[in-house]
Amino acid sequence: MSRTNGQWRLARRPVGNFQDGDFTWCEEPVPALGDGQVLVRIVYLSLDPTNRIWASQDSYLPAVKLGDVMRGGGIGVVEESKNGAFAPGDVVQGLLGWQQFYVSSGSDLQKLPKLPVPLDAWSGLLGAIGLTAYFGLLEIGQPKAGETVVVSTAAGAVGSLVGQIAKIKGCRVVGLTGSDEKCEWIVKDLGYDAAINYKKENVAEALRKHCPKGIDVYFDNVGGDILNEVLGQIALRARIVSCGMISGYNATTPPPGPSNIINLLVRRGRMEGFIVLDYLSRAEECFRELIPWWAAGKLKYRVDIADGLESAPKAVLRLFDGSNAGKLIVRVSPEPS
Ligand code: NAP
Repeated sequence: MSRTNGQWRLARRPVGNFQDGDFTWCEEPVPALGDGQVLVRIVYLSLDPTNRIWASQDSYLPAVKLGDVMRGGGIGVVEESKNGAFAPGDVVQGLLGWQQFYVSSGSDLQKLPKLPVPLDAWSGLLGAIGLTAYFGLLEIGQPKAGETVVVSTAAGAVGSLVGQIAKIKGCRVVGLTGSDEKCEWIVKDLGYDAAINYKKENVAEALRKHCPKGIDVYFDNVGGDILNEVLGQIALRARIVSCGMISGYNATTPPPGPSNIINLLVRRGRMEGFIVLDYLSRAEECFRELIPWWAAGKLKYRVDIADGLESAPKAVLRLFDGSNAGKLIVRVSPEPS
């Protein structure tokens, strides 16, 4: 019996936040496989702030073409294979798209190794999120024990791992996030030394209070005003990891540059951009550290699951209003038993 593949296709370039009508729901039959092809049933689709960038402009990847299935990372299970490298039941990851099934030549799929972690850990702890936190902080930020590390989106998927890894490395860690509940969670459950609710508090004053010796490492996920306030308080030879600029992803005019940038000069600081794709080949090295930390209870992650592919266009908005509690994913179909 022929099966249907439900898909979200990009209908138009978003202006501001995603809106109704930016995506169109389509259904088409799952095609019969040709030689060398693999059919993947998607289990978890990752929703990421970068979806907004991919939908609107060329960046580190080309913009999604209008009419194409929306790009998205995902985890799935091989259902059929005419490719000797994959067998039914294999669990794979890749850019599987906002759809229920993905037909691949195999070259863009990675088979997930059997590791002692639940499947959702590939979304919230390992995969791109873990690599981003681990290599961004340790390679670009180079924190040393005793230094002060500040993290924005501190309760989010990447930020929450960054803060905990910085604690494991012996740093004093201050997190910025947008609600009292998230502030409480990162201090009480994740062990941050202090949290700042940037929506309620005066950020400059709060940073002065919690970082009396200045900021040695800033893991920047937001850009904008918060980056500027941090620049105003960096310590000598500070490192700023430019990982994300979510405060500007929905901007319709370019945000102004940070007026405190002169501090990079006078305090001999370094600010360096970072894209996780450059570190994919080093995944094993990262997982060898993350998994024991997680197993020992030193590194926690949480996933926030939206049910059903149909929910994706509404669910992705939660990344921009801050209502996601952890790594946001869509459960497209049940996990394999
Ligand atoms: P996330 O933190 O789980 O979710 C996004 C969070 O951003 C929201 O929960 C909200 O948290 C915060 N936010 C939304 N709008 C904001 C605004 N205008 N100002 C300040 N904060 C805002 O998402 P994630 O996947 O971990 O991504 C976090 C950042 O890392 C993003 O900038 C993303 O683009 C970046 N990233 C970069 C790479 C790379 O390779 N460079 C890879 C992955 C992710 P609050 O409640 O705290 O406001």
